[in-house]
Amino acid sequence: MKILLTGGAGFIGSHTAVELVKAGHEPVIVDNLYNSSKKALERLKMITGKDIAFYEADVCDPAAMDDIFAKENFDAVIHFAGYKAVPESVTKSVAYYRNNLDTTLTLCECMQKHGVKRIVFSSSATVYGPIEESPLVETMPSAGCTNPYAWTKYMNEQILRDAAISNPDWSVALLRYFNPIGAHESGLIGENPKGIPNNLMPYVTQVAVGRLPHLNINGTDFPTPDGTGVRDYIHVVDLAKGHVAACNYLEANAGVCEVINLGTGTGYSVLDVVNTFERVNHLELNKVMAPRRPGDMASYYSDPSKAKELLGWQTEKTLDDMCRDSWNWQKNNPEGYDS
Ligand code: NAD
Ligand code: UDP
Repeated sequence: MKILLTGGAGFIGSHTAVELVKAGHEPVIVDNLYNSSKKALERLKMITGKDIAFYEADVCDPAAMDDIFAKENFDAVIHFAGYKAVPESVTKSVAYYRNNLDTTLTLCECMQKHGVKRIVFSSSATVYGPIEESPLVETMPSAGCTNPYAWTKYMNEQILRDAAISNPDWSVALLRYFNPIGAHESGLIGENPKGIPNNLMPYVTQVAVGRLPHLNINGTDFPTPDGTGVRDYIHVVDLAKGHVAACNYLEANAGVCEVINLGTGTGYSVLDVVNTFERVNHLELNKVMAPRRPGDMASYYSDPSKAKELLGWQTEKTLDDMCRDSWNWQKNNPEGYDS
């Protein structure tokens, strides 16, 4: 299939482009490079040996997107493009709603006009809200979102559910990612956060490479086995393969609209991650015990059985793989794509 990847130059999109090529599909990337680099596209060529088509465009721009849809004959869309920093979404809420909702609405209009009937959407475990009960299953109602970023994911899911009702021949997969980390094993592509990272793994790798002085272990008194927060970390290559499986599922099942968790089903604590990172990479991190971050939950992880049942997909990589590959990317690219 020829598949449009909005935001395909970013962290998850670039890894998905690689797996789509490996599976015999033809990805076409549209990205405005707001949070990514043209270097990622050069690296994709090094990994895949293919010139992946790239359009530098804003997915909120209806005329630009209409032109791209008219030129390419897409069989499916994977919609990664969006802003994703939770704390920033609190201070720049209007920009988050504008970008994250407008991209989806523009895409839906183009799909309707150009007869494209399959869409995979990057949703997030944050839509479950503050439910202190894991594993999280797709049938659980959301307990309400706690920040504008999460609300944009919640609203996008609803927009796409309604679009699937208005367009009964569409097939829609709303993929709720848990915590993507790791990088392609080549070390050529990886996560490239702007400014100081918010998330654990990029913070860990930037401490290890000497860009940041120490890691704060935020919260040591959670009701978890070692007192630190527990999350469901998933290797980005496994996550990328989940998108290939979702595209194949949508091709074979016209008219479906499904919410699907993409996670491992296993929770690891901050100390599990830190200790594993130190062990597999033979280094020691400078770390400091620190207070909880406001609003952080003690623990959440997925029930991934629906993905296995519908998509025939499950994760293969371990926490060791995730820690090794994250470090391989960072040590080879200390300043990310600006190295
Ligand atoms: P990313 O920032 O690396 O990639 C997103 C890409 O979208 C970037 O390349 C950016 O330049 C592009 N973009 C943003 N707005 C655009 C617009 N209007 N037009 C064109 N391009 C635009 O983020 P990622 O980690 O790869 O995440 C991809 C998707 O998955 C996002 O929607 C994100 O919210 C979602 N998600 C990410 C995580 C995570 O922890 N990384 C977890 C759950 C969900
Ligand atoms: N965390 C931490 N130090 C950091 C960043 C994160 O201890 O510098 C902890 C955080 O409190 C949480 C876990 O690591 O328990 C995962 O945080 P992340 O922001 O990566 O994911 P999220 O909490 O959004 O699921």
